[in-house]
Amino acid sequence: MRLMIPFFVSSVLSVGFAQAQVDWDAVEVRAQPVRGAVHVIFGRGGNIGLCVGEDGTFLVDDQYAPLTDSIIAAVETVTDDPVRFLVNTHWHGDHTGGNENFGKRGSIIVAHQNVRRRLSTEQVRTILRQDRTEASPPGAWPKITFTDEVTFYWNGEEIRVFHVAHAHTDGDSIIHFAKADVFHMGDVFFNGMYPFIDIDAGGNVKGVIAAADRVLKMTKDTTMIIPGHGEVGGPSDLLAYRNMLATIRDRVQTMVDEGKSMDEIVAAKPHASFDANWTGNSERLVRAVYYSLTR
Ligand SMILES: [Zn+2]
Repeated sequence: MRLMIPFFVSSVLSVGFAQAQVDWDAVEVRAQPVRGAVHVIFGRGGNIGLCVGEDGTFLVDDQYAPLTDSIIAAVETVTDDPVRFLVNTHWHGDHTGGNENFGKRGSIIVAHQNVRRRLSTEQVRTILRQDRTEASPPGAWPKITFTDEVTFYWNGEEIRVFHVAHAHTDGDSIIHFAKADVFHMGDVFFNGMYPFIDIDAGGNVKGVIAAADRVLKMTKDTTMIIPGHGEVGGPSDLLAYRNMLATIRDRVQTMVDEGKSMDEIVAAKPHASFDANWTGNSERLVRAVYYSLTR
């Protein structure tokens, strides 16, 4: 089966171009406990959050459509209850690709209203990358949307889903499982990696830093954080990420103020002091920061 793999995932996987052959049956999908009622599922694409209990199964994101059966098998290692609610952290296909499949099985999809807007219309990127994503079928669109925040009193948890403006995209949500004190930050947080920031979709490094600051104010030392990509981390990982982005932002801003062009700023490698500890596409991040500060 041949599918388009979005470039932001390709780069994380070092595939490096927009299409790749994927043997979906070979993808290992596994659930792992985080704390309390909260689990994480790793597979291919954005990390999935899972909350189980007497009210019913609650999922955060769903990777790619061909992985739905594997994801359900991973859920079934934890609970027999089907997925009742499915929250999308944002519209990207490595987080929403399974929406239609889960919708057909009765899951109710919930997301920020801009996720529905972007999934229901063709998306064209021209800034950091030239590509085009067709509108998803109506069965993949969120049935319930919100603009600021929504809280689920579910499985003994208080699950706060709140929007952070213009961060990775213009439709990002962060989920806080308050009782377990576990966050799922979607792609607002790439743990240990230079992030992709979707400038075409309203993303901005300033919003990513602001969102990190907002979450850091809510954390304790023991708080656990599921990132969109990378391993489960904690406040120290998020702080390091925030400081890396703020430092690169400041370096780029200084060069913008000096009148340097984007290509000159890229050539100056404002990320160089971080390269030993961070993976991912540093040049694309610098360009995203430049656009964030100048558009
Ligand atoms: Zn994303």
